[in-house]
Amino acid sequence: MAKKAAAEHLVMPYLVSIPCNFSAGPYMGRLLREMKEHKKLWGNKCPSCGRIMFPPRAVCGQCHGVEAGDWVELSDKGTLFAFDVCYYPYIDPTTGQPKPVPWARGVITLDGGGALIHFIEPPDPEKLRRGMRVQAVWREEGRMGEMMDILYFQATEEDKK
Ligand SMILES: [Zn+2]
Repeated sequence: MAKKAAAEHLVMPYLVSIPCNFSAGPYMGRLLREMKEHKKLWGNKCPSCGRIMFPPRAVCGQCHGVEAGDWVELSDKGTLFAFDVCYYPYIDPTTGQPKPVPWARGVITLDGGGALIHFIEPPDPEKLRRGMRVQAVWREEGRMGEMMDILYFQATEEDKK
């Protein structure tokens, strides 16, 4: 007796959006709290290889060492390691508003260790250069405990001259 062919299942594409909150955990949570309440950046030091981790983590991603515990206050100043100036529209997901074109982002190596990617002002390729000194410009009111509590990085006073 021949087997009956399985019926073809029809599909309908449907995008599910599920807004949710999740715990930042003890490491990222401390960083975000310090940013919100004190405008400070913190990392932690791997006890095995000595690497400064930013954002702080429970376990070093480089040597997979034991749980990291030594907290290190980092500067909100650093060196612009790399950057790009973008000429395409960008909707800032934290505000839902378009960012004026052009805009720039860069990799900032923080004094004391660690690095992050953030917006750079002004987005002028004539004024930006690798190795320039930059500092964070913090949101003064309404910090939420998120990376956008730093609005952008800009040249330090000594590098503006
Ligand atoms: Zn390590």
